[in-house]
Amino acid sequence: MRWLMMMAALMPGLVDPVPAAEPASLLLKPAGVFDGVDGKVHPGWQVLVTGDRIVAVGPDLPTPAGTMPIDLPGTTVMPGMIEAHGHLFLHPYNETSWDDQVLHEPLALRTARAVANAKATLLAGFTSERDLGTEGAGFADVGLKAAIDQGIVPGPRLSVATRAIVALGAYGPKGFEPGVAIPQGAEEVSGVDQIVAAVRRQIAGGADWVKLYADYRWRPGEDCRATLSVEEIKAAVAAAHDAGRPVAVHAATAEGMRRAIAAGVDTIEHGYGGTPEIFAAMAAKRIALCSTLAASDATSRYRGWNGSEPAPPAVQTNRASFRMAMKTGVPICMGGDVGVFAHGQNAREMELMVAAGMTPADVLIGATWGNARWLHLSDKLGAVRPGLFADLVAVAGDPTNDIRAVRHVRMVMKGGSVSVRNS
Ligand SMILES: [Zn+2]
Repeated sequence: MRWLMMMAALMPGLVDPVPAAEPASLLLKPAGVFDGVDGKVHPGWQVLVTGDRIVAVGPDLPTPAGTMPIDLPGTTVMPGMIEAHGHLFLHPYNETSWDDQVLHEPLALRTARAVANAKATLLAGFTSERDLGTEGAGFADVGLKAAIDQGIVPGPRLSVATRAIVALGAYGPKGFEPGVAIPQGAEEVSGVDQIVAAVRRQIAGGADWVKLYADYRWRPGEDCRATLSVEEIKAAVAAAHDAGRPVAVHAATAEGMRRAIAAGVDTIEHGYGGTPEIFAAMAAKRIALCSTLAASDATSRYRGWNGSEPAPPAVQTNRASFRMAMKTGVPICMGGDVGVFAHGQNAREMELMVAAGMTPADVLIGATWGNARWLHLSDKLGAVRPGLFADLVAVAGDPTNDIRAVRHVRMVMKGGSVSVRNS
């Protein structure tokens, strides 16, 4: 190529250095289309893409001259999936403990790994991801997002939370000589002024979301207890919302959830300790829940669980709270806390949601249009609808029959560009 261009420069007119123009439009021809909204696979539908947008969807679409067809036999085309709770700067804890990742891994190593993780995520059909904290890797997610947006490295569209915010002394790594300052996995605050300052600092540094921890273990081995006060959470939410940033709150206890709901947050992560009253309040306020079933599943396996029933208490509690939330009408996010387990295995959460009682169609809506709405992206993406970004994935078979079909990715398209195509 370089030689051709050189020749062209030397002998104008002999070789055209301008590559042939991309076709103006692409026509995807799968077996059927799942639009992310109505829960059905529509046999015989096609999708017409021009530039980075979907321009038409339906049967027998008229196409402009020069449209390039892409045959995708035996597949279902659906919106690119959206991971609502990930940590691209973490890798599975059975490879390296969380403490050691935060304390011993150089930032460049963690960033290089995050680049590989972003690629694996995209190739698995996840074209967007909300990354809920770098866990000690500072603002590196902002740079990774920019590198993806500039086309330097492949990856999903990112919404990032940068450092995340915790109550002073409540997070980790912990358990060291008390007189030694240990770098923490998030920014520590105490009091309303400090939390507002942290929110503003993180937003100035590039945070699209503000992530707070409403509860945690104060000492190793203890049960979780509420950490940030209602006043602190309220002040953080006000500062974030003033800046147009939604707030995600880690809350595993009933009290942590209660405080987060009272403060008017946007999503609650984990929610293990939710009660019928708490979930009713979430449903009334339209606060979405990310159950992260895959996280408790993975950490239980790292502790020796072989997957047989009865599952360990942590797994059963998580399933029960997910079912209770679903029954109460809480908006459900699809987010697995990926990073605790391997990136690219994001579909694990979807399989566990089905195993816990949600229909595959509802899980698929949750992972596409549902997540787009709860993550405030639905004006841009999340459905196979004209005008939205052409973020599309073709999977073998019908995922509304068997959710495992989403593991069999045949094509990933992000913004109208094919990122991967497997036969
Ligand atoms: Zn997380």
